[in-house]
Amino acid sequence: MDGLMMNTPLTLQEILERARKVFGEQEIVSRIEDGSLHRTTYSQLHTRVLKLMGLLERLGIEPGDRVGTFAWNSYRHLELYFAIPCLGAVLHTVNVRLPEDQLRHILTHAETRVLFVDRCFAETLAPYFARGERLGKIEQVIVLDDHGNGASQGIEGALDYETLLSEASPIRAMPTIRDEQAAGLCYTSGTTGSPKGVLYSHRAYWIHSLGSTGVDSMAVSRTDAMMPVVPMFHANAWGFPYTCAMAGAKQVFPGQHLLGRPLAELIESERVTLAAGVPTVWNVLLQHLRKNDHDVSSLRNMIVGGSAAPVSLIRAYKEELGITITHAWGMTETTPVGCCSRLKSTSLALDEDDQIELRGKQGIPVPGIDVKIEGDDGSDLAWDGEQVGELCVRGPWVARSYYEDEERQSVFAADGWFHTGDVATIDVNGYIHITDRKKDLIKSRGEWISSVDMENVAMAHPGVLEAAVTGRPDALRDEVPVLWVVASPEVPAPAPADLVAHLGQRFAQWQLPRLEDIRFIEAIPKTSVGKFDKKALRRRMSEGD
Ligand code: AMP
Repeated sequence: MDGLMMNTPLTLQEILERARKVFGEQEIVSRIEDGSLHRTTYSQLHTRVLKLMGLLERLGIEPGDRVGTFAWNSYRHLELYFAIPCLGAVLHTVNVRLPEDQLRHILTHAETRVLFVDRCFAETLAPYFARGERLGKIEQVIVLDDHGNGASQGIEGALDYETLLSEASPIRAMPTIRDEQAAGLCYTSGTTGSPKGVLYSHRAYWIHSLGSTGVDSMAVSRTDAMMPVVPMFHANAWGFPYTCAMAGAKQVFPGQHLLGRPLAELIESERVTLAAGVPTVWNVLLQHLRKNDHDVSSLRNMIVGGSAAPVSLIRAYKEELGITITHAWGMTETTPVGCCSRLKSTSLALDEDDQIELRGKQGIPVPGIDVKIEGDDGSDLAWDGEQVGELCVRGPWVARSYYEDEERQSVFAADGWFHTGDVATIDVNGYIHITDRKKDLIKSRGEWISSVDMENVAMAHPGVLEAAVTGRPDALRDEVPVLWVVASPEVPAPAPADLVAHLGQRFAQWQLPRLEDIRFIEAIPKTSVGKFDKKALRRRMSEGD
């Protein structure tokens, strides 16, 4: 129809150009391998991205080709985040913690042509290339090395990133790309079978970034200094590299230095205002901050997601450090931000305690994301905070299929809903509360027990550092919960009976674990992206622990 708006493409090229034009002076700070800080700006990023695009072109990278990264969060990874998709190719971020078979599988499945690798991973990858295995169809490895010595780090035939870049000519003009074109690829580790690929479009990244800047979403502003601890190889570092560039925020990359002290020091020195990571990371930082003096007063908000944030963690940051934790939910399949737990004006009237409880929920869908909960029979369940069903989502940055994977498409319904596999309630105010992954629910005599709720309550006990709950078959009750506990080093370990009594304040008698099912362990095993690895716990149990 005549008189409508322009249809300019929503691409990462536009975000990059905007960053150069209006935020050219804004800083990008990275902690590099030796622990020192490297500083650059959006203007310098832009210059190097054009050269990198020139280099990729010279290597014969064509639109649609997959180009991989195997790296920690850094300015070089950010350059790749822009150069690869801006050329029309596909940025394939590879999880550096994957077991060998999965690494081999995803690089082969994606047919990744060139792989950019951090120097510290050269040792991991060198043996494959030494025995002539090209991990699928990798034609060229390029090593990201702080000293420009990437070519001599042990990977046969590898080239050095800095040397190549110093010799490269910038691409002459940005190629024309469409916004539906593929820009990124990330594999998500399924509970069964091999990892599944999720292919992102420029449009999805662009709209996701705009949505994430919103004050009731990730609220990224040009006045922020943002530190993504969530790795750039997992779910696009929750979109922050692009969102920050769009908003003009300073980016602060921790590299491989992810323990309490280096994170606290980075927050302090760079006056970080916003940070994002999984609960475990914030728990480690909290333990450090409790014992050491750091000025973290610049932090206005910490985003936590990836797995359920215990209310006790949210409370501890608020009460001990005055820092607000914002709980967010998302998935690789949702680019990933889906919902975010910020308060409504009506909830501001609640007392502090109830506000913190509410912040423990995963929150309200961000604009653009539609949600529902579905019963076992496929019916829509009421938003009453009681009915429990599978969370389904749809929206412009939700995947509509897995990449080149015909067999595992059943989670994408014909009417556009993606079945997340997460079990949730939604209350009358629209707050989603994830109670479990479908496979982690415990069914005792026909009634469900939420493992997440039980973990949450257990972790509120002062003697508990971390807790995970799995199910165990039981002749009498079908299934019973097993509570795995890592005792806090600060206080004497609680007795199993104490823990059961503590859980008894919130759970019915029939839901409680038996005394013999309270198991103290050194550490809860974690997955490659830092979540509790319940598969490993179940394995440990079946092996007779
Ligand atoms: P991934 O694709 O690896 O990021 O994993 C996505 C899954 O992580 C979701 O389906 C949830 O099971 C879980 N998850 C992510 N964020 C949260 C959260 N805030 N609370 C509970 N579970 C979460």
